[in-house]
Amino acid sequence: MNSPSNSWHTRLTEADELELVHAYLSSDPQISKHAGAARHFLKWARERKIPISELNASAVNSFLRHHCRCGRYSPTELRKPAYATYTRRFLSYLEDIRVVSVSDDVARLGQHLDAYREKLNEVGYSQAMFSAHLSQARHFAEWVWQHRIAIGGINEATIDEYARHDCRCGEMTKHTKGFLRSRFKIRTRGARAFVRFLRDQSLIPPSALEHLADYDPRLTNFSEWLRRERGVAPETVRRYLNEAGRWLDDLGVTPKDYNAAAIRSIVLGQSEERSRSSVRMTVAVLRAFLRFTIVQNQCAPSLLYAVPSAVSRKLSKVPSTISRAQIEKIIASSGTTTPVEIRDRAILLLLARMALRAGDIWQLRLSDIDWRASRLRLHGKSRREVMMPMPQDAGDALLTYIEDVRPVVSTDRVFLRIQAPFTPLRSSAEIAGIVSRILRRGGFTGIPTGAHVFRHSLASAWLRDGADLDQIGVALRHASRDTTAIYAKVDVNTLAEVAQPWPGDAS
Ligand SMILES: [Zn+2]
Ligand SMILES: [Zn+2]
Repeated sequence: MNSPSNSWHTRLTEADELELVHAYLSSDPQISKHAGAARHFLKWARERKIPISELNASAVNSFLRHHCRCGRYSPTELRKPAYATYTRRFLSYLEDIRVVSVSDDVARLGQHLDAYREKLNEVGYSQAMFSAHLSQARHFAEWVWQHRIAIGGINEATIDEYARHDCRCGEMTKHTKGFLRSRFKIRTRGARAFVRFLRDQSLIPPSALEHLADYDPRLTNFSEWLRRERGVAPETVRRYLNEAGRWLDDLGVTPKDYNAAAIRSIVLGQSEERSRSSVRMTVAVLRAFLRFTIVQNQCAPSLLYAVPSAVSRKLSKVPSTISRAQIEKIIASSGTTTPVEIRDRAILLLLARMALRAGDIWQLRLSDIDWRASRLRLHGKSRREVMMPMPQDAGDALLTYIEDVRPVVSTDRVFLRIQAPFTPLRSSAEIAGIVSRILRRGGFTGIPTGAHVFRHSLASAWLRDGADLDQIGVALRHASRDTTAIYAKVDVNTLAEVAQPWPGDAS
């Protein structure tokens, strides 16, 4: 046995076999019971004239299935799972001592296990999690090796196949029981974690498993939570994890890093090609993930409200808010001399004081004004009528317009053209035009176009003043609290950066 390597390409004699098996057994005192399988395997190969150097995993499989008439070996033993384990283990040994050679292309993941162990240590897993990850990594490395999978050939399908394999890997004798018990999910998770590590360390091509989901312990726990607390079906959980894996890194390293801007950019920064339903999926998963993180007390509940709606994605370029001081300057700049100026000022004050929608103003009827109580009846989008209190200056401006300059015509509409034929404004878009004119006249620049900027700005200001979402929601007449909630975020000072266009202002 001193320099055996030359002879492996020819066939072994029975004496060579005995010697080889003896060397094998002395390599590990725990494997004495493997002797039968090893010798049986060699005899089988010899009888089929297979050179020992060509033994491989598929040879093992043929061996395990052979109709055994080998005399002193038991066909019953051959069918036992342990026998397969022993045989594979022996093959590994032959590979280790280079009797059986393996192409350089085959992924030798086992050599990275030490580095992986260190990484797991750094992450600070619980002991159970640490062992689970490590033993799965070892198992996966062994399985990849036995299947002679090239380094570039590791992909999602590989992991799936690994997760489903009927384990006869044999390498991890001490853990065999654990392997047999380990289920699909545990294997998938462990293998993905390992592969992600390898990819991050550039040990396998970066293209491999681009959308790996399961590595991060947050996702592991997230998936548990979805299943247990939310009763989400396994297939859906899988899709959720894939989705979350796409942007988890963008969200921040730890929940402490999460902020509204990051949350917002995950939804709004999606490529235009993504379908609407994909974006809805992102929104749903992001919300679920934040809820989960909130439940763990790891991030502020208000972050949930920073998730934009999928609908608003296309409108995300709509500009932000303006300061209260600037609003006052704009109001102060509006003239009160000509009929047009008087009308425009009334419109401006309704926008700036009451946060009305352009559509509310356009549709306003004389019968909607309750002068005694100083309130406006607004119809809103949901056909629900509400009476909104009218601040003093807005009421005054409205009264001045109606009494002094509004043409007396048969229509009930409040806002009309000042020149003949004195028809109602054509559409709510004209309100935005009026706002632009006021800004132009006052020499204001850099202010977002459109009437809704006032609505935005007021909501932000109220929020900064400490109004709660329900109050603001009532003031803005949102049908749903969710719409108002868009304004709530942890850092109110940067609200301008994340302020959402109002869905109702999309026109
Ligand atoms: Zn046999
Ligand atoms: Zn296995």
